[in-house]
Amino acid sequence: MALVVQKFGGTSVGSTEKIKNVARRVISEKEKGNDVVVVVSAMSGETNKLVAMAGEIAESPSEREYDVLVSTGEQVTIALLAIALHDMGQSAVSYTASQVKITTDSAHSKARIKSIDSEKIHKDLSEGRIVVVAGFQGADEDGNLTTLGRGGSDTSAVAIAAALKADVCDIYTDVEGVYTTDPTICENARKLDRIAYDEMLEMASLGAKVLQTRSVEFAKKYNVPIHVRSTFSENTGTMVTREDKSMEEVAVSGIAYNKDEAKITIIRVPDTPGIAAKLFGPISDANINVDMIIQNVSEDGHTDMTFTVPKGDFKKAMSLVEKAGEELGAKGVAGDPNISKVSVIGVGMRSHAGIASSVFDAFSKEGINILMISTSEIKVSCVVKSKYTELAVRVLHDTFKLGDREVKEETW
Ligand code: ASP
Ligand code: MG
Repeated sequence: MALVVQKFGGTSVGSTEKIKNVARRVISEKEKGNDVVVVVSAMSGETNKLVAMAGEIAESPSEREYDVLVSTGEQVTIALLAIALHDMGQSAVSYTASQVKITTDSAHSKARIKSIDSEKIHKDLSEGRIVVVAGFQGADEDGNLTTLGRGGSDTSAVAIAAALKADVCDIYTDVEGVYTTDPTICENARKLDRIAYDEMLEMASLGAKVLQTRSVEFAKKYNVPIHVRSTFSENTGTMVTREDKSMEEVAVSGIAYNKDEAKITIIRVPDTPGIAAKLFGPISDANINVDMIIQNVSEDGHTDMTFTVPKGDFKKAMSLVEKAGEELGAKGVAGDPNISKVSVIGVGMRSHAGIASSVFDAFSKEGINILMISTSEIKVSCVVKSKYTELAVRVLHDTFKLGDREVKEETW
């Protein structure tokens, strides 16, 4: 007998019909003899609706009240699911996050979980009940409602699985699992049987939006195996787990891309100590996340610096850099929002050489110009013009033979 945490996302509980379908899946897990805890999101579109309503009333609503509002979507689904389970003859109980003491810090709309009281849940399970818990929400030490950031139900589920020492956390969603790349770009993208936490973190933060990044960090820290799978089929999905030897045999596990960045270059700044601090200080004060940074070697005491920021922060970052550029005596500032970052990811890169040069070769054959390069132990990323994104992804997917079918090429 196992303890299983099942999480169902918004599209899985998007209508009362779908909630009944979820109830059936929950029951079939229970009928295998397992203890089942279910975590649900709000019905798809509901959280957006609530956010929009607050926006219609005030430009920047009180953060506390925002959380009181947006956390209501999940309260609807826990109740509906419990009602469905009762109707199917099961003993089940729903809980909001405060009822099972999911305690967070007070950072409204992006709170972090500090502790979960697992006693009550264990008691219900031991008495044979299915426990349904609201995702996305928490409460701080003073009892104020909080939320964990958009997509936060994934993190609720993994945290609950960690607290209960569950055997697995099943994340049910509207795709079959995690793929070698975006199947809408490569039709032969293959569903991965397994992926390491670190690879998933790179895939998630680079735009493969299956799991909230924070949930993977949590799973890695507490070693919770995650099974990403579809609500709408019986197929096994992708296991996200701790890395092992067999994963290192494969050099590349997947190709990710991110169209959501823009690049900024500051031209000919004096190459003296303190320049980077003066340039990036105001950007970080404005809460803008800088991703890649490249500084050129300088021969005549001047250097160019190029870096990327989220596209949404591009204008703000440009004006900050222009201001800093004037103060620093730079020759100019150039910006380009039409770029994207394409990355090759794999824990096997730690033991396989030559991955970066294969990437460069592949791009060179296709005439794709590389604008920036950065690497880590398990990743090679290139910034290219955004019009090349799809081509770049396909070329790399083929180069590293990640597809499940050979793309047939005529050889004569
Ligand atoms: N309902 C929340 C959202 O839409 C949390 C979640 O779905 O995970 O962001
Ligand atoms: Mg989600």
